Amino acid sequence: MSTNMLPILPGATLGVLGGGQLGRMFVHAAQAMGYFTVVLDPDPASPAGRVSHHHIQSAYDDPDGLRQLASLCAAVTTEFENVPAVALAALAGRCTVSPAARAVAVAQNRAEEKAHFTTCGVPCAPYAVIETPEQMASADQSLFPGILKTSRMGYDGKGQARVQTPAELATAWDAMGRAPCVLEQLLPLALECSVIVARGADGHSVHLPLQRNLHRDGILAVTEVYEENVPLALMQQALAAAKSIADELEYVGVLCVEFFVLEGGRLVVNEIAPRPHNSGHYSVDACDVSQFELQVRTLAGLPLTPPRQHSAAIMLNLLGDLWFAQGEAPQDPPWAQVLALPGTHLHLYGKEQARHGRKMGHLNVTAASAAQARSTALQAAALLGLPAF
Ligand code: ATP
Ligand code: MG
Repeated sequence: MSTNMLPILPGATLGVLGGGQLGRMFVHAAQAMGYFTVVLDPDPASPAGRVSHHHIQSAYDDPDGLRQLASLCAAVTTEFENVPAVALAALAGRCTVSPAARAVAVAQNRAEEKAHFTTCGVPCAPYAVIETPEQMASADQSLFPGILKTSRMGYDGKGQARVQTPAELATAWDAMGRAPCVLEQLLPLALECSVIVARGADGHSVHLPLQRNLHRDGILAVTEVYEENVPLALMQQALAAAKSIADELEYVGVLCVEFFVLEGGRLVVNEIAPRPHNSGHYSVDACDVSQFELQVRTLAGLPLTPPRQHSAAIMLNLLGDLWFAQGEAPQDPPWAQVLALPGTHLHLYGKEQARHGRKMGHLNVTAASAAQARSTALQAAALLGLPAF
């Protein structure tokens, strides 16, 4: 993308590869600004396809579908990490695409991702690449206990196994079909946090505030964003690290950088997502510019102004499990009672079937103070049968 590109103005058509909830919220933001939208996703009932002006129902690597997408759109973005590289390459010659294929490729591969962190001088967990039996056999003792992660296609803690010993590593690697993996040292986490950066083609970037995240069973459960959710020095370190990771990739678009804070206070980068992120959903209700509007602005080449958080915010993820609180037959959670609490904002993704572990929606809680946001969020969690935090 050239730096003197004219902005793509409202009235034009923007496209997104992928029709999940992130695509749906991108579509909402683009349409609110007056853009037309196209979603490419094979699923006729995809959350984004259902709300978009156009929905191309084709495979992500189908040349006809991609050609149609490129011919309809002035610019195309992605909403999931594992978009085939061929899809981005096929589009690149025909319309504006961001983020670029190279940045997506780095985020798609844990080994490349960690090499990139090293280039940026940002520490990550000690690790070894496990792609051959020799590499497996020579994994350093210091990496145990560790977590074996497939290099590609992992999300929500899938494709991961905790291993205590070299023997367990061998078994786990076999169970993963000896796919390319990384073995990471299991770190003593004090807390987890993330930063969302939006970077334009001119290299100018802005960011959302630092998000503090709680995971349960490898899936994000709660995000808390308010002043002093994380010590100031850590926040500054995380923001600087996220910026250098985006700059070094010459990234254009919205990027999420996930961090661990270790017992003892050291900051370590975990991974990046080349798109808006679950931990940034609070921004829709708590900031004057959301992560999805930032995605639209970066894609369209519009100016990036620093987002301002106007409310303390807590997000609760709503997994399909909530629909089964009463037993085998799915039942709607008590939405009316939850929405009677001031400052609650319900977001459901329009997925037809609730399943255990499936992300069905989230609840944003906004308030004038952190204490009020926490009190309301804890009441909402209790009504929904979610654990306190
Ligand atoms: P997603 O893409 O949904 O964020 P993922 O499947 O890529 O998740 P990771 O972010 O690698 O998974 O790990 C999921 C969670 O597991 C982390 O947020 C953290 O709670 C825990 N975890 C991962 N790696 C480590 C580690 N090296 N030490 C301690 N905990 C870890
Ligand atoms: Mg993660």
